[in-house]
Amino acid sequence: MTWFLVLLVAIAAVLLVPPLRRALLTTPIFAIYKKLLPAMSQTEKEALEAGTVWWEGELFSGKPDWQKLLGYPHPELSTTEQSFLDHECEALCAMVSDWDTTQIHHDLSPKAWAYVKEKGFLGMIIPRRYGGLEFSAYAHSSVIQKLSTHCPVAAVSVMVPNSLGPAELLLHYGTDEQKNHYLPRLAKGLEIPAFALTNPHAGSDAASIPDIGIVCRGLWQDKEVIGMRVTWDKRYITLGPICTLLGLAFRLHDPDHLLGDVTDIGITCALVPSDHPGVNIGRRHFPLNAVFQNGPNSGTDVFMPLDWIIGGPARAGQGWRMLMECLAAGRSISLPSSNTGMSKLAVRATGAYARVRRQFKTAIGKFEGIEEPLARMGGYTYMMDAARTMTAGAIDLGEKPSVASAIVKYHVTERTRQVVNDAMDILGGKGICLGPNNFMGRAYQQVPIAITVEGANILTRSLIIFGQGAIRCHPYVLKEMEAAREPDAAKGLRDFDKALFRHLGFIWTRAFRAWSMGITGSHFGPVPADVAPETRRYYQQLTRFSAAFAFLADVSMFVMGGDLKRKEKLSARLGDILSLLYLCSATLKRYEAEGRQAEDAPLMHWAIWDAMFKMQNAFEGVMSNYPNRFIAAVLHWKIFPLGRPYVVPSDSLGHEVALKLIEPSATRDRLTAGMYLPRDEKDSVGVIELALEATLAAEPIDAKLRAAEKAGIVMRSEIHPVGADDTATQLLHAQEAGILSSEEVALVIRRNHLRDKAIAVDDFPPDFSVEATGMVAPLCTTA
Ligand SMILES: Cc1cc2nc3c(=O)[nH]c(=O)nc-3n(C[C@H](O)[C@H](O)[C@H](O)COP(=O)(O)OP(=O)(O)OC[C@H]3O[C@@H](n4cnc5c(N)ncnc54)[C@H](O)[C@@H]3O)c2cc1C
Repeated sequence: MTWFLVLLVAIAAVLLVPPLRRALLTTPIFAIYKKLLPAMSQTEKEALEAGTVWWEGELFSGKPDWQKLLGYPHPELSTTEQSFLDHECEALCAMVSDWDTTQIHHDLSPKAWAYVKEKGFLGMIIPRRYGGLEFSAYAHSSVIQKLSTHCPVAAVSVMVPNSLGPAELLLHYGTDEQKNHYLPRLAKGLEIPAFALTNPHAGSDAASIPDIGIVCRGLWQDKEVIGMRVTWDKRYITLGPICTLLGLAFRLHDPDHLLGDVTDIGITCALVPSDHPGVNIGRRHFPLNAVFQNGPNSGTDVFMPLDWIIGGPARAGQGWRMLMECLAAGRSISLPSSNTGMSKLAVRATGAYARVRRQFKTAIGKFEGIEEPLARMGGYTYMMDAARTMTAGAIDLGEKPSVASAIVKYHVTERTRQVVNDAMDILGGKGICLGPNNFMGRAYQQVPIAITVEGANILTRSLIIFGQGAIRCHPYVLKEMEAAREPDAAKGLRDFDKALFRHLGFIWTRAFRAWSMGITGSHFGPVPADVAPETRRYYQQLTRFSAAFAFLADVSMFVMGGDLKRKEKLSARLGDILSLLYLCSATLKRYEAEGRQAEDAPLMHWAIWDAMFKMQNAFEGVMSNYPNRFIAAVLHWKIFPLGRPYVVPSDSLGHEVALKLIEPSATRDRLTAGMYLPRDEKDSVGVIELALEATLAAEPIDAKLRAAEKAGIVMRSEIHPVGADDTATQLLHAQEAGILSSEEVALVIRRNHLRDKAIAVDDFPPDFSVEATGMVAPLCTTA
C-alpha cells in the first residue's frame, strides 16, 4: 500500500511539475517525435500553411460552438449585384445557348464575347477603382451559378478570369505599376488572361513542374538587361488559345548568381503577353465536347525582363506560396457555384419532366423507382447550395478557408456527378439524344472536368482534406510540429511539452465526450438557443460526431504517425467525416437563415439523415480497417457503445422530397433559386416548365374525361402515331356533351402541345451535313 502511494505521488510529481516532466518524460518523447515526423518539403510546408481556418476548426475541436455558426452573417446581394443578375446576366443567358456554343461557334459567339467584356463579367473580383465590378464573393458565385444553369461555356469563360490567375495574383502581389497597367485592362476585357501551371509531367504534383527560367543577361528594348530565359511546355490551359496575357509558372534558377547567392530560386509567376516572340499559343484541346477555350502553350529560351515577374524581382521564387495563398478563394467559388448551378438545372427540369412524361398511364415521377433518385437529387442540391452559400459568405468575411474550400470543391462536384447521373436515368432517351432539345447531355459529358480541375478529386479526398485539416484545424498538432522545427532547442522542448500535455488532455476529454454522448444517445448534448425545434437533435448528434471524430483523428495520428499520409483510404474516410460535418452545419445554417420554412423541412431532414448515415459508415470504414485490432475494438466501444444508431432516410421522407420536385411550389423555387428560367417554348427548359404548369392545370380535366369515358359518355381515346388524332375528336365530343368547357378543351390542347414539345428529341440528316444542321466540322461528325 505504501509503495503504491509512493508510486502515485511519483507519477503525479512527474506529470504535474513541468521541469521534472520535461526532463523525464517530454525529452525522450520529443526525440522520438522528431524522428517520426515525416520530412516536409518547402512547397508542402507552404501549401499546408496557406489560408485560414474557419468553421472547420470548430468541427475539429470536438465541441463546436453552434451559436458561432448561426451568428455568421448569411450572405446577401447588394442592389447593384441583384440588378446585374437580373439584367446583364439574364441578357447574356438569353444571348447564348448550349447547343449554339457547342455545335456552331465552338466557343461563345463573337456577340456574346463582346457583351461579356463590355459589361465587366471578366472583372468581378477587380476593385471599382481599377474599373472592375468589385462584387462580393457571394455575388460572384451567384453569377457563375446562373450562367451554369443555362450555358456551361459561358460560365467557364467568365469563371476563369475571376478565379486564381493574373487578376487575383496582381491584386495581392502586383507592383503598383503592374496593377495600374493591367487591372483596368483586365476589368474591361482588353486583356484576356489565362494561367499556366500544368505541365505534361506535373499535373496533380504541380510543385514539381520542370518548366524553367534561367536568370541571364539579354537584350530588351535595345538595351542589355538582366532578365530570364524561360522554357516551358504547358497543357490544359483554360482560355490559353485566346489569351492575350499568359500567367506563367516556372522554376527560376540563377546559376551565375546575378540576383544573389541562391541558385534554385524556386517557383516564380510571370505575366507574359501572348504575342511576345517565342510564345507558341493558339492550338486547342477538345475537353469532352466542352468548347470553352482550352489548349497547350510552350516556349523555348524565351527572353523576358524581370519586371514581368508578378510583384517584380522581389517576388522571384515566391510563386508557389502566392498560388497556395490565393487558391482558397477561387476554389471556394468557381466549381461549387458552377456545379450547384448544374444540379439546380437537373433538379428543376428533370423534376418537371418526371411529371409531364407519362408511362403506364402514370407520370413517371410518381413511380417509387423514380422517387428514389428524385429524393437524392433534391436532398443533395439543398445541401450543396447551403455549402456554396456558407463558404462564399466566409470569403466575404475575409477568410481564405483552405480546408473548407477543398471540402466544397470535392463534395459539390461529386454530388453533382450523382445528381446529373440520376437526372440522366430519369430522362431516359430524352437525355441521351443530343440536340437543342437536350438540356442534360452536355452536363453529363462535362461533369468529369469539374472532378479533375482545381485539385483532382481523388487526390483532394485522399490527401488534402484530412491531411491538411488535421494539421491546420487541430488545436495542437501544428504547435507540436512547429516546436519540433524550432531552432532554439530549449524553447522547442518547452513548446512541445505544453502542446503535448494539453493535447493528451484534449484526447481524454474527447474520448469521454464521445463515449458519454454515445451511451446517452447524445440526448444531453448542447443545443444553441432559439433554433428550430425540429433541428434540436441534429445539433446534439453532430456534437457527438464531432467529439468522436476529434478522438478518432487523434488516436489515428498517434497510432499511425507519418504513415497516415500513405494510408490514403483511412485518411479519405476521416476527411469524409469532417466534410459531412461541414455540409450538415451549412444545411442547418441555411434552414435557420431562410426562416425555418416548414415546407422545406423534408429536404433538410433528408440531407442530414443521409449525411449522418454516411458519417457513421465512414467511422466504420476507418475502424474496421485499423491496423491494430485491439485499438479498433476500443475505438468501437468508445464511439458506438450501443451499436450503430443511424439509418438511411426513410422511404416516406424520400416520397415527400420527390413530391416537392414534381410540382410548382415555393420550396421548388427556393431549391432552384438563381436559375435562368425563360418562360419560352423555344427554350429546352422553358418548354418543360410551361408543360409542367399545363399538366397540373389539365389533371382535373383529365379526371373528368376518364370518368366520362367510364360512363360511356365519350369515346375512349389513345395517343396514336402521327395521323390518327382521336384525342381531338374526344375533346370535341366532351365539349358537345357539356362535360368540358371551351376553356378546358383549350387547356388540354395546350397541355398536349407543350407535352409533345417537352418530350421531343432532335434528329439530323444521316450524314450530319453542315448545310442541314448548321453544325461546323469537325465536331459534327460521328466517326
Ligand atoms: C479542362 C481542363 C482545364 C484545366 N485548366 C487549367 C488551367 O487553366 N491552368 C492550369 O495550370 N491547369 C489546368 N488544368 C489542369 C488540371 O489542374 C490538372 O488536370 C489536374 O491538376 C490533374 O492533373 P492531371 O490531369 O495531370 O492528372 P494526374 O496528376 O495524372 O492525376 C491522375 C489521377 O491520379 C490521382 N492522384 C494523383 N496524385 C495522387 C495522390 N497522391 N493520391 C491519390 N490520388 C492521386 C488524381 O486524383 C487523378 O485521379 C486543366 C485541366 C483540364 C482537364
